[in-house]
Amino acid sequence: MTTTSTAGLADALTRLGTETAFDVLARAKELERQGRDVIHLEIGEPDFATPSFISDAAADALRAGHTHYVQTAGIPELREAAAEYLSSTRGIAVSPDRVLVANGAKPFLFFTILAACNPGDEVIYPDPGFPIYESAIRWTGAKPVPLPLLEERDFAFDPAQLESRLSDRTKLVIFNSPQNPTGGVLGAEEIAEAARLVSRTGAWVLSDEVYSQMVYEGEFASIATEPGMLDRTIVLDGLSKTWAMTGWRCGFAAVPDALVDPLVRFFVNCTSCVPPFVQLAGVAALRGPLDEPRAMMEEFRRRREIVVNGLNSLPGVSCRWPRGAFYAFPNVSETPLPAPELADRLLDEAGVAVLAGTAFGQVGKDNLRLSYANTEENLERAIERMGDLLAGL
Ligand code: PLP
Repeated sequence: MTTTSTAGLADALTRLGTETAFDVLARAKELERQGRDVIHLEIGEPDFATPSFISDAAADALRAGHTHYVQTAGIPELREAAAEYLSSTRGIAVSPDRVLVANGAKPFLFFTILAACNPGDEVIYPDPGFPIYESAIRWTGAKPVPLPLLEERDFAFDPAQLESRLSDRTKLVIFNSPQNPTGGVLGAEEIAEAARLVSRTGAWVLSDEVYSQMVYEGEFASIATEPGMLDRTIVLDGLSKTWAMTGWRCGFAAVPDALVDPLVRFFVNCTSCVPPFVQLAGVAALRGPLDEPRAMMEEFRRRREIVVNGLNSLPGVSCRWPRGAFYAFPNVSETPLPAPELADRLLDEAGVAVLAGTAFGQVGKDNLRLSYANTEENLERAIERMGDLLAGL
């Protein structure tokens, strides 16, 4: 994990990690500034425009004067729309008073961990996984307990490994499906088994479901639907991925009663509220037609073919079929270079920006992460450039 020099600063900063995607993006932008052509496969955001009916709703709200502070927990219209959305997409009964709104899904990750954990508590989280999990766990002084996602299981975990990591010190278990960075999707059986194991403990569950609508094969399953789980689970989703709204910064979650006030207190301490015109755009998104998100997924499906078939045609590279999100996580252990060095050389010499699997934990040390949120033409060019670089090694 990347850490920061703390001369003159708080010692605790050594425990705060980062999201490498933003570092690689900055390096790629610098190369572009120097006149180089770079194909961006590093950043995890849909490259589609936000559907125009959503932007129109925001513009109308701005003109109508929705430009002031509003309730920290979220405006009632959005809490209601999100409660209905979470209930209908998961098949659970969520009441609006348990739904909170924040500036993206990220604040829920950070503040749930802060609200739940004392130093010395243990938090189980997926490895490879979204880097903010480990960063936030370390920041609280809790102990990070990685749960390996296994390539041979299409990036599911082994329930026996989950069982062996659960203890009376486990305070929180984080699941993420569909997954960043692997594109893996947990199946109903794995989820049922996970619920059975976790329910023997007193741990909270944080189910990061920001890619819930991005599944290519099979059904999306939420652990919150398992018996007894809703009362201990933070069901996290948001506008960023499904509606191509990463820059709007709006996420929402159904949270257990006991966490409502602590989370609102964290939000009031740092952000006060999500801009009301963004929240009204969120209401339009959640209540609007799903044609555009569906069309986006069809495009991602075509790109997935190009990327996975392309990667599997390269020497030393093997790539599982991602069943969700828009990431491929190829194994490059049979190429002449370690994955982090290969990622660096792909950017510097071939102009293809990807991430090393180590940006997401130790288990992915032999992998790269490619976000296929780019045009089919650019994806084809990227595979060609990767092939040329590998052929020259
Ligand atoms: N969770 C996962 C698994 C993600 O991949 C991301 C973004 O990449 C987030 C949470 C954060 O999403 P948001 O933009 O809603 O903060």
